[in-house]
Amino acid sequence: MVRGDLLCPGEECMAQILDGKAVARKVLADVKAGVAAVKDRSGATPTLAVVLVGDFPSSKIYIANKKKAAAEVGIASRDFLYAEGLSQPELLGLLRQLNADPAIHGILLQLPLPSGCDEGEAIAAIAPEKDVDGFHPMNLGLLLAGTPTVVPCTPAGVMEILDHYGVELKGAEAVVVGRSRIVGKPLAQLLLARHATVTMCHTRTRDLAAHTLRAELLCVAAGRPQVITGAMVREGAVVVDVGINRLESGRLVGDVEFESAAKRARAITPVPGGVGPMTVAMLMKNTLQAARRQLGL
Ligand code: NDP
Repeated sequence: MVRGDLLCPGEECMAQILDGKAVARKVLADVKAGVAAVKDRSGATPTLAVVLVGDFPSSKIYIANKKKAAAEVGIASRDFLYAEGLSQPELLGLLRQLNADPAIHGILLQLPLPSGCDEGEAIAAIAPEKDVDGFHPMNLGLLLAGTPTVVPCTPAGVMEILDHYGVELKGAEAVVVGRSRIVGKPLAQLLLARHATVTMCHTRTRDLAAHTLRAELLCVAAGRPQVITGAMVREGAVVVDVGINRLESGRLVGDVEFESAAKRARAITPVPGGVGPMTVAMLMKNTLQAARRQLGL
C-alpha cells in the first residue's frame, strides 16, 4: 500500500515514518518557483493579508510560522493585528477593504476570534477567491460538489503526504476520526473523491475501536491527546495523526499514541514533524494559486 520499504519488517518494529517536514520542504520549493514565475510574468508579488484579532499567544506563534514561510517563498505578507480587539462591524469593514484591494491576493483570518465576534459571519465576508484557508461556505460547497478550487490547508496537506508516499486510496477502507469543518469533514470528502470507502467517527460513535480496527487508512483529528492507542490500529494500516496537543509535562503529542501505534502500523506520521508543517506549506500553495487566478495567469 505504501511505496518504499519499512524501516524494519518485524512485528516489534517501527513503521515507516511519513515525513511531513520533508514533503513540506518540497511543496515550499515548488511554491517558491511558482511565485518567482508570477513575479516575472506579471510584475506583481503574491501578497497575503494576515488578520489577527485579539491577544491569543498560540495564534501569534502560528502567524509567526506562516509569515516566516511566506518570506521564504517570496510571498509578501501585510499585517492587520488588533491585539486589543475589533468590533464585528469593524472586522467586516476591514475584510471588505481587503477584498477590494487588488494588491492583496489572499486573506488569512487567524482563528479563533475573540468572544463577541461571529466567526461564521466573518469567514463568509471574505471574498471566496481570496479565502486561502478554504473555509468560506462557497469553497466548502465546491469541495462537496466535487469541483474544489481552494481546499482547507490541513486536509490538503494530509492528501499531499499520502500522494507523496504513494498510498493507494482507491477502494481503501478509510476511517476519519473527527468531523470538524476545518479538518475531518473536508478530509473525508477528499478521500471519497479519490474513491476510498470512508467512515467518519465522532464523540457519539459507538465502539470507536470497532471502526478504527477496520481502517487500512486511519486519519485522526480528534483534539484528544493519544486517544487512539496501538490496540485500536489495524495491523499494517497507514496512520495519519493530525492532532497537536501539549501535555502538562510540556511534551507535544498527537491524538495517536505513537509508540504503540507504530508497532502495528505500516506507516505513520509523527507529531511533531507530520501534518503540522504541511498545513503552513499548503497555505502558501493556496496563496500562490489565488494570486495566479486573480492575475489571470
Ligand atoms: P475540533 O475540536 O474542532 O474537532 C474534534 C473532532 O473530534 C470533533 O468532531 C469531535 O466529535 C471528535 N472527537 C473528539 N473526541 C473524540 C473521541 N474521543 N472519539 C471520537 N471522536 C472524537 O478539532 P479540530 O478538527 O480543529 O482539530 C483536531 C486536532 O487537530 C487538534 O488536536 C488540533 O490541534 C489539530 N490540528 C492540527 C493542525 C495541524 O496543522 N496539524 C491544524 C488543525 C488542527 P464531535 O463532533 O462529536 O464533538
